[in-house]
Amino acid sequence: GTPLLEVKDLHVEFHTRDGVAKAVNGVNYSVAAGETLAVLGESGSGKSVTAQTIMGILDMPPGKVTQGEILYRGQDMLTMSNEERRRIRGQKIAMIFQDALSALNPVLSVGYQLGEMFRVHQGASRKEAKEKAIELMDRVRIPAARQRVNDYPHQFSGGMRQRIMIAMALSLQPDLIIADEPTTALDVTVQAQVMDLLAELQAEYNMGLILITHDLGVVADVADKIAVMYAGRIVETAPVHELYANPAHPYTKGLLRSIPRLDQKGQELYAIKGLPPNLLKVPTGCAFNPRCDVATDLCRTEIPALHHVTDKDGKELTGRRSACHLWKETLHG
Ligand code: SF4
Ligand code: MG
Repeated sequence: GTPLLEVKDLHVEFHTRDGVAKAVNGVNYSVAAGETLAVLGESGSGKSVTAQTIMGILDMPPGKVTQGEILYRGQDMLTMSNEERRRIRGQKIAMIFQDALSALNPVLSVGYQLGEMFRVHQGASRKEAKEKAIELMDRVRIPAARQRVNDYPHQFSGGMRQRIMIAMALSLQPDLIIADEPTTALDVTVQAQVMDLLAELQAEYNMGLILITHDLGVVADVADKIAVMYAGRIVETAPVHELYANPAHPYTKGLLRSIPRLDQKGQELYAIKGLPPNLLKVPTGCAFNPRCDVATDLCRTEIPALHHVTDKDGKELTGRRSACHLWKETLHG
């Protein structure tokens, strides 16, 4: 059927004093109901800008969509009426941010904030709204919800605050949740708990989930498929387990090698050399070439297209693409 959300050939530019930064440069991805897409990349890769464009909350300096479509259930959000777009962004798609403290109002109790949706949109009384808030807090497993419903955001731990943000998102009963680095500020054990909760709720309510992260380690168990971004482009897509088992792009390979592994304790961790490019001075050819261990002359002149990749017998691998001139050697070498 029709995907819940489909981003098609999206281009977003930022006009700065020093020139035009192409933050998103022809991105395509889609997510279906009940499906989790992880969008992976370093800062400046365009992963957050893509999400912010979907939500209509692009940062300063003003970003501009110069090309592309964002289809919600087949309808382009970029060309529909403002009213219709607001309705979708307000009710159908919810966003969860890294920093709950700045997303929540510090001077209102969490119960009040969680109940707001029900008071404002469903005409619930204060008492009814409070009960709904407690229900939601229970739903995201905040202990002693009834006792804590009048507490303020700062009285909760970081992990509990992320749960409150998830509860806020759920109060909308959205079709789709976009979570931008939802666990980055948390320590590792809490990260896993929050991620498990998100995955569980997503499955239970059959929502689509777009999980934006720089950390390949946190998405392994929850994502169905991954899109890896670099310098504004998608450089690899794959079902999550296939990507872990056998990446088809040197950048992904480097990211995988730099994840700490329990069975390799004591070994020095690999790090990809160099830094992601300045978007005002993206290298010619493959943007990754200055950091790539296997780059050739071709890599410095020609931008690799995002190709379908095939197994050793030439059979196309479903959902797998790589934007690397040497994908064959990378995947099968
Ligand atoms: Fe490396 Fe070339 Fe592939 Fe880019 S296209 S990732 S530089 S081998
Ligand atoms: Mg970001």
